[in-house]
This record gives sequence, structure tokens and C-alpha cells, in this order.
Amino acid sequence: MRALVFEEFGGPLAVREVPPPDAPDGGVLVRVEASGLCRSDWHAWQGHDPDVVLPHVPGHELAGAVAALGRGVRGWAVGDRVTVPFVNACGRCAQCAAGEHQVCTAQTQPGFTRWGSLAELVTVDAAEVNLVALPDGLAAATAAALGCRYATAYRAVVQVGRVRPGEWLAVHGCGGVGLSAVQVAVAAGARVVAVDLSPAALDLARGFGAEAIVDGGADAAAAIVELTGGGAHVSLDAVGAAATCEGSVRSLRPRGRHVQVGLLPPAQGRPAVPMELVIARELEVLGSHGMAAHAYPELLGLVAAGRLAPERLVTRTLTLEEAAQALPAVGRDPGIAVVTSF
Ligand SMILES: [Zn+2]
Ligand SMILES: [Zn+2]
Repeated sequence: MRALVFEEFGGPLAVREVPPPDAPDGGVLVRVEASGLCRSDWHAWQGHDPDVVLPHVPGHELAGAVAALGRGVRGWAVGDRVTVPFVNACGRCAQCAAGEHQVCTAQTQPGFTRWGSLAELVTVDAAEVNLVALPDGLAAATAAALGCRYATAYRAVVQVGRVRPGEWLAVHGCGGVGLSAVQVAVAAGARVVAVDLSPAALDLARGFGAEAIVDGGADAAAAIVELTGGGAHVSLDAVGAAATCEGSVRSLRPRGRHVQVGLLPPAQGRPAVPMELVIARELEVLGSHGMAAHAYPELLGLVAAGRLAPERLVTRTLTLEEAAQALPAVGRDPGIAVVTSF
């Protein structure tokens, strides 16, 4: 099969012919129709994730069709159109038993703990726990974003951030997950402040319904406190950087909720969270890590009803060859880029 491979961290990415994987016991082999390029893929390529072993094939935001069933899989058939959360849960641990598959203690992740979906074929573990059936009308390129950024944003805003209509929600960083969060929060009735350094990203945020935009940088938190009349009720760090994490906490009003969405690899430095504000203002500091497969029908229902429009976030479709150039530049162009030709 063809796959996008790198042999050293930060080194060249090239499309190669590699041996295809077999469907694992209890899992499936998926023929990839679309795979998004996400900042997490960039982190994997940079060597920020200790799970990644070289040589490596990145990619974890996928949609496609089941190509083969592993031993013991019931309820799925070859040809079924599917997507999958980037956390492949085990289905057997205490977290999974509680329904919290997104923090499974025995999870695997395509594109991190094994080769990923920037390839013609990819494996999914524990198929009965992790596969999500795609509605007929949903394009593969749109569905791919649901596997990571859009679902992550949905859970962060609705389930973890618990935003209520009329509340102010600040989004620090308007890349793929940040713009998804803007769209989800607006649909939930929140008043959204979008923060980014890029005027083009802020234009997109405005187009998705952000009521206010703020130039990223040292003064962003103060600007948010000013324009929301005391601070946001909910604030997301959708970048995953020391500065945006701290800025997000500082932009909250008393009893506000900070939701950490962007990855914060320690290799890039740990954030200085102002814990004196956490105590003085009774802030909540929350993490949000993807979304369990069983939570997808609610999200897919809102997409089908036209309440959410993830397809508007897909601004570019690429070939696998083009991904070799685009992955190192993730974040340079606003919106979501998806590989649709393998
Ligand atoms: Zn588990
Ligand atoms: Zn991702």
C-alpha cells in the first residue's frame, strides 16, 4: 500500500510503498477515503510523542470503508462506511466500563502507538467499541474531521465546558479545533470571543459566528475581560502552548471554566498556570481528550439536522504527495486540510 512515511523526527516525509497491515483480532482494516492533517500529526512528526516509533506513518483523523474484519468482530461488514475516535478504547478497563472511553487506560491510537491513516489502509482496534457508522449523506472529507478536531471541540464545549446559552466562551487559537469550537459554541447559544494571531483565522471565526475577535498576544486576556464585562464563563486553550494556556485561565470571570484542548507536550515547556487565580476566583481547570464513539450519534444528529456544519471547516483537499509538504506547515493556513486522494 502507499503511505506517507518519515524515518527521522523532523526529517523528510515521503510517499512509499509499504506492506499493508492485517486486521487485528477484534479489530478491522479500513480502506482510507479521507484523512485530515492535524496539529497532533505535526507533534508526532516532531518527536513530541514518546509513543511514536520510527519509521512512522502519521494520521489519525480518518474516514473510510471496512476492508477486512479481524477474528471475532460482530455487527460490522466489509464495505461499511465508518469513522473512529483517535482514542481506540479497549472496551474492557474500568474507564471503558464507566463509558469514559476517551480516557481508556489501555487505549491505542492510529498514527501514534501504531501506523496511522495517511496511507491507503489503516487498522482500528476493538472495532465493536470504536467504529462509528457514517450516515449516507456525509462526505468522507467531512467525516474525517469528526474523528479528532470536531468531536474534540464538541466535547470540550458542550460536555466538559458545559456552556449555557448566553454565556461568553473564549477560544484561544483558531486552527482546526478552535474554529470547530467556535461553530459548536455559537450553535449552543454562547457568545463567542475568538483569539488568534492570524487575521485570516479571525475572519473565518467571524464567519462562523464569533461575536468578537481579539488579536492574540500578551494582552489578549485583558482584552477579553474588558469586552465580556468581567471575563469569559468558559475559555478554551485550543492551541496547546504555555502562553495560550495561561491566557485562557486569565481571561475567565470568577467561577469560570478553563478547558485544555490543545496538547501541551512537555518537550515544548510546561505552562505557568496562575493557581492563585484558580483559588481566588474558584476557577475550574478541566481537560478534554477526544470523545468516545458512543457519544457520536448526538453530534451526527446535529450535523444531519443542519445545526452544525463541519464541512465548512474543510478549506483544502490534498493528495498524499501534497501532504508531505503540507504536514510540516500545519497551522500556517487557516481551516482544515484533508487528504482525499491516496
Ligand atoms: Zn479501556
Ligand atoms: Zn487530531
